[in-house]
Amino acid sequence: MPALDDANLGEIVVSEADLKARIAALGHQITEDYAGRAPLLVGVLKGAFVFMSDLARAIDLPVEFDFMAVSSYGSATKTSGVVRIVKDLDIDLSGRHVILVEDIVDSGLTLSYLRKNLKARNPASLEVCALLVREGRQKRSPTLKYVGFTIPPAFVIGYGLDVAERYRNLPYVCIWGGAES
Ligand code: 5GP
Repeated sequence: MPALDDANLGEIVVSEADLKARIAALGHQITEDYAGRAPLLVGVLKGAFVFMSDLARAIDLPVEFDFMAVSSYGSATKTSGVVRIVKDLDIDLSGRHVILVEDIVDSGLTLSYLRKNLKARNPASLEVCALLVREGRQKRSPTLKYVGFTIPPAFVIGYGLDVAERYRNLPYVCIWGGAES
């Protein structure tokens, strides 16, 4: 656990209490929208695993899980939009009601690649649930059915989001106060 006086921890952007309340509301909404169905939650590793775990437990339906891991070319803090699938799904998506669970949408390039890729596998439906959307960074406004929070344009860590694999276990989202990587 990082020390609370860690100089890399900047201002809190989304508190633990706000995460809890918003995720409960998202879970409730998904429960209503998917009544009578068993949605398949597809998490994008690694960042989405913390959010997906809490979100799934806020959904009162028989949900199923799968994960994919992608790596994007570019620096640690900037995406190039060229995405490589590092771990593919185990489950066949055809006929499934898929909810793609993302940690953060920045430029939206990763999401747009994933959406196209998953759509090609013929799911019955495909929606996106993103915990965070960074304000003003997407060229075209993406159609995101479920969004947790819109955040200002600073690099953030915590609640699944890392810098060099650290800080994913912070129970809140805060601004990265360290050096640009
Ligand atoms: P996009 O393709 O939308 O520009 O970038 C999305 C991906 O970049 C996210 O899934 C995440 O892995 C990474 N990313 C974008 N912004 C942040 C941030 O503020 N903090 C962290 N830790 N990762 C980010």
